[in-house]
Amino acid sequence: MKKYSKLFLPLIYSLIFITAIWSYQNIETVNSNTNIFIHEVQIHTQNIINQVTGKKKQKPKLTKDNSQRTEKKATYSKPVGKWPTNSATIFINIKDPVLRSAAKSAIKAWNDTGSFTFHVVKKQKDANIPFTTIDDDKDGAAGLTEANINSGNGNFIYVRVELNSAYLLNPVYGYSQRRIINTAEHELGHAIGLHHTDNISVMQPTGSNYPIQSTDIQNVKLLYSRKNTASTSSQSQTNTTNNN
Ligand SMILES: [Zn+2]
Repeated sequence: MKKYSKLFLPLIYSLIFITAIWSYQNIETVNSNTNIFIHEVQIHTQNIINQVTGKKKQKPKLTKDNSQRTEKKATYSKPVGKWPTNSATIFINIKDPVLRSAAKSAIKAWNDTGSFTFHVVKKQKDANIPFTTIDDDKDGAAGLTEANINSGNGNFIYVRVELNSAYLLNPVYGYSQRRIINTAEHELGHAIGLHHTDNISVMQPTGSNYPIQSTDIQNVKLLYSRKNTASTSSQSQTNTTNNN
């Protein structure tokens, strides 16, 4: 009996080990949860380092070149566009498991509100909204939304949403998974047609302090209960860019 258990135990351990490796490589949720866990450990480690050394969390800095791309309150104090109905197609073009998981969580969070529906499509060419990443430590924004609007009827033509991995994934900036999801929910808020507010909202200009609030849901419902009142029928387009 002892002889068998000697063989048996290593076999069990090997099986567990092989299963874990296989799961990591093959199951997206296991893969993303592992990477989220590693990301959270890095954030906590950085917090401890900051406490020990007395350093403060770094904030993304705006560079002169990009300052004109920053949102101005005046420009974005009212809705900048909307979709013809309260739904849009979206394509997730994100490889990083932490950001990809955050993007999916943010899409689900908006869909769960019932105020707006993002339909995830498998091809970018079929999507109203390409949801992707940039890696730009000079951009000064953790998230970016660029909208192309038909100025005739005020409808979006397409909206490009980007998460900036240079800030969101670098532990020195301290973005926990929850704050990355909040950032993604904020950018999707712009992609729906929401503007900034200083109230407690996912649409606060900093963009990562709060998840979707009940006032945000009401604002989306209000936005899509109104008819667009643009007076001209020209097909000209305007571009707006939202940093954060
Ligand atoms: Zn914003």
